[in-house]
Amino acid sequence: MHDAPAFTAFPLDRGELLRRDAGALAALAVRPDARIAPFWRLKPLVREDGGAPAIAHLPGDRFEHASTEVVFLGIDPAGAPVLAAALDAEAEPAGLVPSARFMELREAAAAGMDAGEASILAAARSALAWHATHRFCSQCGAPSTLAHGGWKRLCPACGTEHFPRVSPVVIMLITRGDHTLLGRGPSWPERFYSCLAGFMEPGETIPDAARREAKEEAGVVLGEVSFLMSQPWPFPSSLMLGVRAEALTEEIVLDPLELADARWFSRAEVEAVFAGTHPLARAPHPVAVAHHLLKWWLESLR
Ligand SMILES: [Zn+2]
Repeated sequence: MHDAPAFTAFPLDRGELLRRDAGALAALAVRPDARIAPFWRLKPLVREDGGAPAIAHLPGDRFEHASTEVVFLGIDPAGAPVLAAALDAEAEPAGLVPSARFMELREAAAAGMDAGEASILAAARSALAWHATHRFCSQCGAPSTLAHGGWKRLCPACGTEHFPRVSPVVIMLITRGDHTLLGRGPSWPERFYSCLAGFMEPGETIPDAARREAKEEAGVVLGEVSFLMSQPWPFPSSLMLGVRAEALTEEIVLDPLELADARWFSRAEVEAVFAGTHPLARAPHPVAVAHHLLKWWLESLR
């Protein structure tokens, strides 16, 4: 059992001062101790070696830097640079690292990848996904170029700077006495219930967004909303903001576009969900923050 949500253990110094120095960055990227994490179609290259997946790095001095955009992720505690590169190939590149393969990050994290490595890949995946979809300046339409170690794009035509976007999502542990509200989306796998969630909108505080989403999706009015925990969710670049809220009303009015079902689960039912014995619902995966919100709630009732 993981004791924290996935992707929350980023172990590198992000090196903001280094990012500003293009010359220093270029020199550091080709050092023999530099580690490049290759991605193909946003899937990281991992090796399994019979155990949990681990990043299959390429050393900086053996990587073809000219062919691809490289993002500088930071410096590890031993002083070695860590970078990520998106390999731009039609067919899956083979033979980079013996017995390694490209694997969905979610799958790698679920298979027990080290929390620090999974967090590094999460940052890399979000940054690379942003570069892949922001090749042109949104101000003037000219092709933009990667800058600042990959944490910025610059438009050479009009000079606009573009920064990677993070999309905040509120995810809510809604309780009423010893019950909590869980729902399932219309396209979700069978028996999959989770905490209600939704994207924040411009101009909202976190409590505003939680109150709006709970009302829109389930017709439930929330009282106090307080922050519990957060999680970067790199599919492609959300930030899950886990909050708890006590509901002021109980009646559920579903928005069928958002939810196929929502219901109040008692504490005993949630215990059964986690034990795998609930007839209707199964527990959110430990990779997801909803799992930890519900675990937190069960603990708080003990
Ligand atoms: Zn421009």
